[in-house]
Formats: sequence, C-alpha cells, structure tokens
Amino acid sequence: MREVAVELPNAYSFPMSSPLGAARRIVVKVGSALLVDRESGRINRGWLETLVADLLLLRARGQQVILVSSGAIALGRRELKLATGALRLEESQAAAAVGQIRLAHAYKEILEDQGVTVAQVLLTLEDSERRRRYLNARATLEALLALGALPVINENDTVATAEIRYGDNDRLAARVAQMTGADCLVLLSDVEGLFTADPHGDPGAQFIETVRELTPQIEAMAGSSRSETGSGGMATKILAAKIAMAAGCHLCIAAGQPQHPVRRIEEGARCTWFVPSSTPAAARKQWIAGTLKPAGAIVIDAGALKALQEGKSLLPAGVVATRGRFDRGDTVSIVGPDGYEFARGICAYSDGDAARILGRRSSEIERLLGFRGRDEMIHRDDLAIVRAPGAAMAETSAAAQAIP
Ligand code: GLU
Repeated sequence: MREVAVELPNAYSFPMSSPLGAARRIVVKVGSALLVDRESGRINRGWLETLVADLLLLRARGQQVILVSSGAIALGRRELKLATGALRLEESQAAAAVGQIRLAHAYKEILEDQGVTVAQVLLTLEDSERRRRYLNARATLEALLALGALPVINENDTVATAEIRYGDNDRLAARVAQMTGADCLVLLSDVEGLFTADPHGDPGAQFIETVRELTPQIEAMAGSSRSETGSGGMATKILAAKIAMAAGCHLCIAAGQPQHPVRRIEEGARCTWFVPSSTPAAARKQWIAGTLKPAGAIVIDAGALKALQEGKSLLPAGVVATRGRFDRGDTVSIVGPDGYEFARGICAYSDGDAARILGRRSSEIERLLGFRGRDEMIHRDDLAIVRAPGAAMAETSAAAQAIP
C-alpha cells in the first residue's frame, strides 16, 4: 500500500481494542443529512475535512478505507432550484447528475490536498446482484485499493430507475462491504444508534450497544423512521446490518454530526455495534460451499488437488476437463481425479473459455482468448473445500456428489 503523508495530532492514536481498530478493510458511509447543510444546501466542508482526517488516520495505520457517500441529490436539487418535498424520479435523477459532480469535486479537493488520490465509483443495484458484474466491480475496487487510491462510492442515481435502484446508501454500503470482504462497516448518520423505542416519543426508550443476533424483536425496534434529507432510516440500517452480519462484517451505527465522527467511535462515543458470528473469509466460503446447485463442474488433476489442499488457487494448468454450461462468476464443483466433488468455487471463466485454456500456462491466456483474463481459473479466496480427498462418501458432506 502506498505511504500516506498525514500529520498525526500530538500523542494521538486510535485505541486498537474496538472492532474498528482490529479491521483490515473498513467501509464508512456518510448520509446526506451530514454532508449537506440544510439551510444553505452546500457541503459542510469544515466537518467533511474532519471526517477525511479520520479516514487518513485509519490508512496511516495500515487499514484500507472505502467511503460510500450520499449527498448528490441533496446538492443537485438546490442547484437546480427544485422545490422542497418529494421529487419525481426524473427530477432526482437530474439532481443526482448535477450534485454528483459537486460531491466528487469536494472529495478531490480535500483528499488531494492531503496527497491521496480519490477514485469515484458509481454503482447500480445490478453491479452487486449479478454475479458477472459483481466480480468486475470487486476487481476494480481491489485494484484501486492496491494502488493506494481512496474509492468514494455512490449509487449511479442518474441511470438507476425505480425498480432497479437501491434508493438508499445504507444497503449499498453493506453490499460494498460484502463484495470487498470488509471486516467493518460504519454507518454515520443523524441517529446515535438503535433504541428499544423511538427516543423522541418514548422517554423509557433504552439504547442498545451491542446486537449479536438480528431477532424479529430487534427488527421491530427499527420501525420505519426516516431521516429528513436522505432516504434511509433505521429500517434500511437494519437491512444493511443483516447483509453485513451474514458476510462476517461488523457494523456500527453512530452519530455523524460531531467533528471527527470516526475517531469519536474509537474514543468510546455511544453507538450500536452489530457483531457477526464469523469472519468475512469464513462467511464467503460458507456461502460458496452452500450453493444449492453448482452451474457446472471442473475436473482437476492430482497436482492441482494437492495445490488446493495447500490453500493455493486453481490455475488453468491443473484443469483436465469442464462439465456443463457455466458463465464467468458462476459457482462450479471442483472434481478430483477420483471423480468426486472435492471443492466448490467461483469460476473466473465461462465453460467455453475454460475449455480453451485448460492444461495451459496462465501466461498463454491472452494469446488463447484474445483478452487478458485472470491468472487463476478459481482464486483461492473464491474457493471452499467441501470434502476431504479419499474420504468415504458416507462421511462426506451432503453436498458431495459423484460426477460421471
Ligand atoms: N444516492 C443518493 C444521493 O447521493 C443518496 C441515497 C441515500 O440517501 O441513502 O443523493
């Protein structure tokens, strides 16, 4: 990772004990209500600078950071002098087109002042729901992080129509966390966290600091509260928590209005933590292993089997044959020389392309396919072993099956 020049405040360092301190990759989401001043309709620049300073501190101690930022519609509607109240779909799309430029410009100015390259990534629902596009979006984000850039993500509101849009950045941020295997997601908004009841209406409402399981009771507590400027409320935050927890990612709901909102969380400010029961890597492998019906199969040789047992990726060189039809991004069975399913994984190639490069060296892929694909047929992060090789079928997982 590129070194980041950042001035650490005197004798200040984050305590490392919170999930935020322990995380390798952190997604931070900021809501429109924080970013855009309600009176002037402009970006809260002074506040934003303190948020950016926090993010740079995280990076300076070796953590990777992705920012999901709302605010495009709120900024654009002001510029276009659209009336207050609900906007028609095409009006919010127009507002997003105008506002997103301003938003990106503000991030560029603030971050580049600090020597950090900012990257704008606009996603649609389909980018996270369709396997093929999901893989592309994930690879792009990985590349940006590896190159030291700070990705700033928003929904591509200008092209997303009602049926195919998230509409709220809480869930978008959770999908980004899931897609990138982040271990911590921070939702900064105008609420402090989760209460047992609406704290404005019920003086007996109690604050909840930690949630380990999303029970129907917890979901009921979210109600349908909405913030005034953004689209999310507690309900979308709970949906985000569901996605994050299933992906092994910690999620924190915290008040974002004060300056240095991320630093405050580590300093012990009140917030609600949702704690998952597994890690992102384990959750991903579980999900791959649990695929009900793999699209096809890849048969491997003994050398590849040994490599996979040692935790390595599957290279085209170790593949002997493909079975069935599958697309890039589909989950396939990996069948050992004994003819039984040994592992499952997300394949980086379609069955046709896989057949053309099997048995070949990765350096030959470009010549054989006419494009530079991934070196690995199935990357080790995308692979889950479902059976010990040579294990009797009776002892194998129910998922294991003989492939003729
Ligand atoms: N994508 C919307 C925007 O930039 C915000 C969605 C939300 O409020 O969560 O204005």
